[in-house]
Amino acid sequence: MPLQPLLPASALAANMAEIKPPLRPQEAAVEAHRCLYCFDAPCITACPTGIDIPAFIKKIAFGQPAAAAKTILTANILGASCARVCPTQVLCEGACVLDDRDEQPIQIGRLQRFATDYVEQHGLTIDFALAASTGKKVAVIGAGPAGLGCAAELARLGHRVTVFEKQREPGGLNTYGIAYYKMKPEVSLAEVELVKSLGVEIRCGVTIGRDVSVAQLETEFDALFLGIGLGAATKLRIPGEELPEVQDALEFIARIHTEPLEGIPLGRRVAVIGAGNTAIDAVTQSKRLGAERAFIVYRRGEPEMSAYDFEYDHAKDDGAHFLFHAAPVEVVATNGHVSGLKLVRTRLVGDQVEVMPGTEWIEPCDLVLKAVGQEKQAALLRTLFPSLSIDGKGIIQRDPLTGATNLPHVFTGGDCANGGREVVNAVGEGKKAAHAIHTFLTQGIATPPIQPSRLGAKQGASGSGLLHPIRAHELEAALSRKHQTA
Ligand code: SF4
Repeated sequence: MPLQPLLPASALAANMAEIKPPLRPQEAAVEAHRCLYCFDAPCITACPTGIDIPAFIKKIAFGQPAAAAKTILTANILGASCARVCPTQVLCEGACVLDDRDEQPIQIGRLQRFATDYVEQHGLTIDFALAASTGKKVAVIGAGPAGLGCAAELARLGHRVTVFEKQREPGGLNTYGIAYYKMKPEVSLAEVELVKSLGVEIRCGVTIGRDVSVAQLETEFDALFLGIGLGAATKLRIPGEELPEVQDALEFIARIHTEPLEGIPLGRRVAVIGAGNTAIDAVTQSKRLGAERAFIVYRRGEPEMSAYDFEYDHAKDDGAHFLFHAAPVEVVATNGHVSGLKLVRTRLVGDQVEVMPGTEWIEPCDLVLKAVGQEKQAALLRTLFPSLSIDGKGIIQRDPLTGATNLPHVFTGGDCANGGREVVNAVGEGKKAAHAIHTFLTQGIATPPIQPSRLGAKQGASGSGLLHPIRAHELEAALSRKHQTA
């Protein structure tokens, strides 16, 4: 059956409204006063961008939300979007000491949103401290969270930064790939304006290797940061995958962000393959767009799901179903359109998935959304940077503390370097790389060449990768100074 919009605009507006409403001023004040303002606060350590959480909460408690926002945005320029999309339950709020006292942890995410919304809604300008110009120029490839985090930090350190983005709009996953009921694209685009206000130039619709060559970048700029994220959805490699109603879950989510909701075509029965957080976003949004039945297909069991528990609970609350220990073997068509998904039972033998022959059945559906991960961009990277070290999984080999690659002038961070983590991890990595680039550009400390074999051995042994001892010391000192002044 062809796909079609299922609900009127009024119902869609209600279904897609934000699930976490903002705190009112009185609520924010009461919540802020619950904080113990811990010395050596574990919530700060749990934040990948190192926001001084007790400091900003105290400013809210004292009626200074704009000052609170400055503390947040100085540490994390994407603090407004992170307030909405961070898995706070497993980061800052998961580390809150009140949890150990059997009390509700402080609602750090909602307080962060309260402060950053205040600045945006009142049209206030944050007076960020900007260092004197160094005369150095840095090209950032990719305007997603890692690229924007890096660009903002570099600009504040006094460098001229140009960000190149192949999409029409900047922001990456924040603009196109977050469930609509968690965050609207306007929040992401407002943050981009904040980055631009630091003097960062952002050129959208520019594809490196086609519109601008790497050689041109290397001639014009003193250093490069790669924040290109991941590629298209991983293929299922099963018959019927080429049917028009088999779609990439991230592209489906992007349509929700870029097209009128009442025009989004949907199936009455939607199958989502995968069990990560993107799969959860896809299945819940399908329900909220009007699907009668939306279900997750996962070849392992509930305990092995990579989606967070709170996301899983949220999907169940929205009426999503879960088919565990089931693997797709064929997309079934009737008259050229998807009519079902042939599945087979699986079982776990150790940590291996074993198919159980003879257990196939067909689950009726009109739309199949693929959420089994994204392809790495190894082929593109090898074309653009033939000498760049890339590991066997297609991930850029880099020093995880600095983002330094084996090419002295090239740094990286975010999904293309970590394989796919949270928005806040990408911002944190971009920020760390900015400090490493700053050291490289201002102190003439060249990045030591990374030997691929040495890197692999070290990472395998310690999981922490490489960091040149002198640079480690310098970087720690720089970051420490920054935290003290934030
Ligand atoms: Fe406040 Fe909890 Fe952080 Fe302590 S751990 S400073 S109580 S938010």
